[in-house]
Amino acid sequence: MFENLSERLSGVFDRLTKQGALSEDDVKTALREVRVALLEADVSLPVARDFVKAVQEKATGQAVTKSVTPGQQVVKIVHDELVHVLEGEGEPGELKVDNAPAPILMVGLQGGGKTTTTAKIAKRLKEKQGKRVLMASLDIYRPAAMQQLEVLGRQIGVDTLPIVEGQSALQIAKRAQQQATMGGYDVYMLDTAGRLQIDEKLMGEVEDVRNAVKPRETLLVVDGLTGQVAVEVAEEFDAKVGITGVVLTRMDGDGRGGAALSMRAVTGKPIKFVGLGEKMEALEEFRPEQIAGRILGMGDIVALVEKAQETIEAEQAERMMKRFQKGQFNMNDLKMQLEQMLKMGGMEGMMKMMPGMGKMAKQVEESGFDDTIFRHQIALIQSMTKKERANPALLQASRKKRIAAGAGQEVSELNKLLKMHRQMADMMKKMGKGGMLKQALKGMF
Ligand code: GDP
Repeated sequence: MFENLSERLSGVFDRLTKQGALSEDDVKTALREVRVALLEADVSLPVARDFVKAVQEKATGQAVTKSVTPGQQVVKIVHDELVHVLEGEGEPGELKVDNAPAPILMVGLQGGGKTTTTAKIAKRLKEKQGKRVLMASLDIYRPAAMQQLEVLGRQIGVDTLPIVEGQSALQIAKRAQQQATMGGYDVYMLDTAGRLQIDEKLMGEVEDVRNAVKPRETLLVVDGLTGQVAVEVAEEFDAKVGITGVVLTRMDGDGRGGAALSMRAVTGKPIKFVGLGEKMEALEEFRPEQIAGRILGMGDIVALVEKAQETIEAEQAERMMKRFQKGQFNMNDLKMQLEQMLKMGGMEGMMKMMPGMGKMAKQVEESGFDDTIFRHQIALIQSMTKKERANPALLQASRKKRIAAGAGQEVSELNKLLKMHRQMADMMKKMGKGGMLKQALKGMF
């Protein structure tokens, strides 16, 4: 029987010694359990192996945070790494549908949920993005499938291409393209025929259609409950027709989501959506955290991870504050602050959160300041050596030249950064004395 990772690890947690840093043995013991849990969650063996290796490297030697056990900390690292592997580029659920009419090709095996998902996505494009969508079924082998799409179209108020008997898949695709162009549609979706298993004829047909319409997106719809099979299907379709993304269906069932991880690792293609039921609304953007939680065994462990995260951040802030109060504010600190600012919506966002800085925020707003400056400043700091970052006083003319050139910028930019650093260091010191720094840092984390 499936035992979730948190249960699995609870025994191990108790045995792990509480030391200053995670020892190799601690990590190994925990990761053995993680590996078994991944395999039970349907993650393929090579993917599980690589994954565990990556976690091991990250975890060994990490300082153990107060108030969590080493085992719990390993879980946090595992969770973060899962999210990292699952994350694709771009926003979740984003589809390329510019240049009207944009073709979307839907591919997959029969019964995977292709037709249902076609309609779900059409509804979403219509309602969330205000797109005019045309749907067409290319399944000439199953008249019932064509009618199914027509029924769904009526249900969600999306047009379908009129059914003409005796046409080939390619002919229907071309007709859809024509109608989409003439009818002023933004998107046309082609629901290709599925088979029970992959065969050459099916692939050939899909390839012909792809070559004719040049889809903006080719989405593979796979049943998330089929685990390893889903991964093989994804590999095959990607090799033959080239997919741009995956939709995992039946994630409302008790599948453990391991297929998502393998699929992402094996094909490198983003998972765009998950299907969560038969209803037309039951489609959600793919959220890596959710799947990571599912693979790990949900609930308690996720809460635990969040708590650990908070603790780590609080400790980090505490340590930073102590140093700032002593006037130790170096380039690494500045870099962290700049990165934090980018995350929080730039200078304005940050200034507004710092007490007494409202006026500065207004000045920033008026000067038309934008985030590119932060990125340039971060690049300058990255171009400094470790020593230089720790001690900016080292920066004389020749070093400055090298750093500016390394970041592709002028020395004058670097001088501005250094001035800002000095001002901030002074400010931190002053604020530290008045206890304001603590408040300000609290707001940042
Ligand atoms: P196709 O052959 O790939 O086009 O598959 P269909 O779209 O006809 O779907 C097959 C069955 O799966 C239908 O009964 C759908 O209602 C059901 N289905 C599709 N997606 C989901 C999902 O995300 N969750 C659940 N529970 N059922 C789904």
